[in-house]
Amino acid sequence: MSEQRIFVVLLGVPGAGKGTQAKLLEQSTGLPQISTGDIFRYNLKNQTELGKLAKSYMDRGDLVPDNVTIRMVEDRLQQPDCERGAIMDGFPRNLMQATAFDKMTAPYGGVHVTPLIQVEDDETIRRITGRRSCRTCGAVYHVLYNPSKRVGVCNVDGGELYQRDDDQEATVRNRLFVYYKQTAPLIGYYYAKGILREVDGTQSIEGVQQALRAVVAI
Ligand code: AMP
Repeated sequence: MSEQRIFVVLLGVPGAGKGTQAKLLEQSTGLPQISTGDIFRYNLKNQTELGKLAKSYMDRGDLVPDNVTIRMVEDRLQQPDCERGAIMDGFPRNLMQATAFDKMTAPYGGVHVTPLIQVEDDETIRRITGRRSCRTCGAVYHVLYNPSKRVGVCNVDGGELYQRDDDQEATVRNRLFVYYKQTAPLIGYYYAKGILREVDGTQSIEGVQQALRAVVAI
């Protein structure tokens, strides 16, 4: 029997706060945040083969093909920082990925818990269209709800803040459509396994974080 690892899968519509909360959970648990969206964006920025392949899907707000995404996550989990587990942010995103992830994590005790961060669609559209990210460190802000101290400048490393191309409203609506069609079935999938936990995502960032820590309970 291999050693146990803790894998937390954050679920919720785009804009529910998964990235913000995953970063905070990373600090409190010491488990690394694995954001497939961040890995794709990094590859896009550096114009790697993976980035070129992912670009057209990301521009439309569609999912990058499963074979590519699953292999990318398998590679990421081989890194030494995953030796205690990981906080999954944006993966799995459909049933194919979820079953693949079950296989990847089975030797380590499987998925520990899947918190579902719940937020209304109108609110997520407001959140996403006001979202700004740091080009260099990836820290995430919101022009109204979580502004940086200086407009357009990251508090952490002074990097430039920008709006993700796929955070424009038309793409956001397609991302929500893709979420309901492909990702929402995971709610039933994990509920049936007894590891789904609902968290009210409309609270303050700290409030959501406290609720998450309580359900992750490690
Ligand atoms: P996110 O930052 O999680 O909102 O992801 C941004 C974009 O990256 C998505 O709209 C997809 O095009 C792509 N992406 C991220 N995670 C996945 C995934 N698990 N499967 C397929 N595509 C993904």
